[in-house]
Amino acid sequence: MDIERIKTLIIGSGPAGYTAAIYASRADLKPVLYTGMEPGGQLTTTTEVDNFPGYPDGVDGPTMMIELQRQAERFGTDVRIGLVTKVNFSKLHGGIHKVIVDNKKKIEAESIIISTGASAKYLGLPSEERLKGGGVSACAVCDGFFYKGQDVAIVGGGDTAAEEATYLSNICSNVTMIVRKGKMRASKAMQHRVESRKNIDVKYFSEVDKVLGTNVVEGVRIFNNQTNEKNDISVTGLFIAIGHKPNTDIFKGQLEMDDAGYVITKGKNTHTNCPGIFASGDVQDKDYRQAVTAAGTGCMAALDAERYLAGIE
Ligand code: NDP
Repeated sequence: MDIERIKTLIIGSGPAGYTAAIYASRADLKPVLYTGMEPGGQLTTTTEVDNFPGYPDGVDGPTMMIELQRQAERFGTDVRIGLVTKVNFSKLHGGIHKVIVDNKKKIEAESIIISTGASAKYLGLPSEERLKGGGVSACAVCDGFFYKGQDVAIVGGGDTAAEEATYLSNICSNVTMIVRKGKMRASKAMQHRVESRKNIDVKYFSEVDKVLGTNVVEGVRIFNNQTNEKNDISVTGLFIAIGHKPNTDIFKGQLEMDDAGYVITKGKNTHTNCPGIFASGDVQDKDYRQAVTAAGTGCMAALDAERYLAGIE
């Protein structure tokens, strides 16, 4: 089987991957970008993006990702549909990294930018799956605005849920927080913030039984896991904030990661523990997780790769 040798490989096609591609192609690194299973990444599951600078009238997620792809291709990025299925990274400065795509194609790369993102966790209920995009969302900052003045619910008791509940309470009439234990996992400071909002109602020992509505969310049926008592809450939006999982399974054993599986980058830059391997976007960021911050680190990764390659030439 032929082995293709390239200068820069970009894995992932969200805002981080495409921004890295724009910078890398303009720097003549001749990047090849593999899109992964969800071309365009998490933004393709969002409707309107209103918080990305430069779009005064907003833009829908899939359109924005097509535009980012076109911009990367304009400078010569070779965008390919395909999933990286195996990697073997060199630990040597100037070493060659081996990658297999779709279990068959072999690539050798001098530098690699990992932008495989993270996936929001969902509850796994059929009613939730059916109403994704119809009122079920995993990102309050992205979609909360569409529920201005309405009643919404949010599932989870961690820092994300507490932060997003507080965010939603500024926009929505009422926010019901559905927490499965008798207490929140969120930090005390976050809990105090939630408690200070009169329009957040926390339901402890509660879980979602079913999301109600045919095409759009009309309510949530919750049950108390101590008493099994069921209750219907009337809401137009349901936010799931039960954590994210970084897409790093194929890099296990190859790259340094934290306990949750996020790739560890060094200090302010995008270097991983393998020379020539850089990480950008949500795969290395559990705190901000915004399209604009992902794009920013994508740019950083391309600049870091350019400097690294210049240093080994
Ligand atoms: P966490 O893993 O910390 O919390 C997840 C929450 O969801 C928990 O309350 C958990 O319940 C609940 N949960 C998990 N699965 C289910 C389920 N199937 N049904 C119902 N509830 C469920 O994730 P976060 O996204 O909140 O936070 C991730 C990391 O990011 C943390 O380290 C956090 O501190 C950090 N972070 C920090 C922020 C800040 O400092 N500003 C803001 C946001 C995040 P249970 O407790 O019962 O397991």
